[in-house]
Amino acid sequence: MNFISFSPELSNGGKMAYLINDECIACDACRPECPNDAIAEGDPLYTINPDLCTECVGFHDEPQCVEVCPTDACVLDPNHEETKEQLMEKKKKIHGE
Ligand code: SF4
Repeated sequence: MNFISFSPELSNGGKMAYLINDECIACDACRPECPNDAIAEGDPLYTINPDLCTECVGFHDEPQCVEVCPTDACVLDPNHEETKEQLMEKKKKIHGE
């Protein structure tokens, strides 16, 4: 499957949650790295809960699932565009801080 490659920071300043595409080999590299427990095991593909994904805002400069994925299966989800401020608010709600 072909996916358009998006820049993590869009020209309009918007950002997005990530999703896992069918390049996933279910290696489990990403799941323990997610600071929000947003990644779930799946059969055959792992999934990212967009309600929990903050692009790692507030924790890391780069999305950790993208950093560790050996097949580049973690890509931006165009159906969940959010601003950095919204992502930070989500992070605060998840972690109560
Ligand atoms: Fe988790 Fe960060 Fe990947 Fe979102 S971008 S699923 S918060 S590791």
